[in-house]
This record gives sequence, structure tokens and C-alpha cells, in this order.
Amino acid sequence: MKRKTKILLIYTGGTIGMVKDYRTGSLRAFNFEELIKNIPELDQLDCELKGVSFKEPIDSSNMNPKYWALIATIIEDNYTEHDGFVVLHGSDTMSYSASALSFMLENLAKPVIFTGSQLPIGDLRTDAKENLITSIEIASLQENGQPVVQEVGLYFEYKLYRANRTTKINAEHFKAFASLNHPPLVESGVYLKVDHANLREPSPKKKPLKVHKNLDDNVAVLKLFPGLNQQVLRSVLGIPGLKALILETYGAGNAPMDKWFLDALEDSISKGLHIINVTQCSGGSVAMGHYETSKRLGSMQVIDGKDITTEAAITKAMYLLGTKISDRLFKTVFETSLRGEMS
Ligand code: ASP
Repeated sequence: MKRKTKILLIYTGGTIGMVKDYRTGSLRAFNFEELIKNIPELDQLDCELKGVSFKEPIDSSNMNPKYWALIATIIEDNYTEHDGFVVLHGSDTMSYSASALSFMLENLAKPVIFTGSQLPIGDLRTDAKENLITSIEIASLQENGQPVVQEVGLYFEYKLYRANRTTKINAEHFKAFASLNHPPLVESGVYLKVDHANLREPSPKKKPLKVHKNLDDNVAVLKLFPGLNQQVLRSVLGIPGLKALILETYGAGNAPMDKWFLDALEDSISKGLHIINVTQCSGGSVAMGHYETSKRLGSMQVIDGKDITTEAAITKAMYLLGTKISDRLFKTVFETSLRGEMS
């Protein structure tokens, strides 16, 4: 007889498990048992389900690298015993957390699926049940005794995406996420349609899972806008201890050509700051040198973020800095796709 797959549900908080506090009128997190009680359908799934919960479930606006380390630890401690993991998480920062976990879990060979919802599970029109039930089904998919998905994914509104390619694009629609630079990995309709060609290939050597919990948060993001002045730029570049700056540029990686602007960036790079060029467009890629307005960025050794999302760039920088990689190697490794986060 076929063995039932074992799935661990990790509840961190988010709208999915919230109730209205009638005193204040705001949504607040409630406990895991209550959440599970609202989905009797879970008993019908053909898998063994276990759950663990954050002691105090949080709104994901309160997420931070310490919580990421906690999620990573839960996965690490339960890795051999389980076939897959479903992380229930608020949608607001889900792309950040899921991207972070993709870097933290090196040699991952099992599914880790992040999901949540726009409406609480107790609401009549909730999107939570479909998101949760299908995430568990996807985490349970096996072929030849191996998990079909062997990477960190994000499931929302009928689609499983590669987590580190996603961005939250809508605060109201059930379709809250997009992955403009990578196609969905699984689509849910009458059948679960798996796009095998776009899934990450398992590492051939079956290396053991390596969990990196030490992230370095000396990272900042600067979004360019017409009118950005010298004082603002100087203040950001002068942040004490800053090690990496994600520069959200225009279009295909373009920036103003003012001498004060480019000289300030070059000066910071020469002092050891890693500056990463990421486009502020949600789709498409940086192409340094394509326009005159990005030529000097390339020649001053600004790091090419290619088609990475800002969420993945921030968490990749935190991860790489945390590995204490040498300054010399940082640029080369950043420009290499480590977990399928860039094309
Ligand atoms: N504020 C909520 C959170 O991110 C929104 C959600 O879950 O969709 O925790």
C-alpha cells in the first residue's frame, strides 16, 4: 500500500488566521487550533498532517530575519520526518520571507510552500481554504517516490510560483502576487498542471540540506526618482556599517548622469560598499550599457541584478553577507543564480 505523505503546516500568522476584534474593529491573529477547526475538509486529504505554530502568531508586517531563522529551524528539525512543508504567512511580506528561505535552505530537496489569504479563513467568501488545501496537495505531489517540487514556492489564487520570483502586486484582489520574469510552476484547475520544465532540478549529488541562519541586515534600498537630491544620496551612502545598497533604477537599469551622483556611488564602491542595480519595473531585466544612462554604472563595478526582484535582491544580499563571503567574490556570486532567482 502507498505510504501517506507527511506534511508539516507551519503557522506564522497573517490574515488567514485572523479574527475581527470587536472592541477595536481591527483584525488580529488567533490561534492555530481555531484556524484548523475552520477547515474540516483537511481530514479528507490523503496525507498525514501535523502542525506547529509561532507562540505568538504575527501580522507579517512584523516579520524580520529572526523569524526567518525560526522558520528555517522548524524545517531543519522536521526535515527527515516530513515529505513537505506548508508555511502559513501574511501576504504583505510573504515574498520577502519566501525569498529569504530559498537562500537559507541550501540543497533543499523537498517542497516548502508559502501561502496565506486576503480574507480570514472564517469569512464566507474566503480565499484561504483553496489556497491552503491546494498548497498541501502540491506539497504532497510525488513521482517515483520523490517530491515533484523540490524548492521554495509561493501558492496563491490557483498558481504556484517560484517564491524568489514573486512580488505582492495587489492589496485587494485574490490574485495578489505576480511573477513576471518566471512562469508559474503549477496551475490549479480541474487538474494540477505541473510545468516540469520550469521546476528547479534536484541537485544530482543529493547533498544534505544546509541551513544558513546568519543573515546580515546591513542592507538598504534606494529607489531612484527624478529630484533625488545630493543630501538624500549622501545620507544613504553614509549610513554607518552599510555593506550593500540595492539601487532601484529606471527601466533597463538606468540612472541619472549627473557627475555628483555617479561620483558619490563610485566613491562608496571604492570604499567597499556593494551597490546592486535592480530595476524598479516589476518585469524585465537590467541591461547595463544598453543606454548611455547605465554605461558608467557598469564600468564602476555596480553589481548587475539582471531580472531579480527587489525582495530577492535584499534577502540574497543579507544571506551572502551572512556567509562572510569575501568582498572580491561578492559581485561574481551575486551575479550568479543560486536558487533560480535570476535568469
Ligand atoms: N497584514 C496581513 C499580513 O501580512 C495581510 C495578509 O495576511 O494578507 O499579515
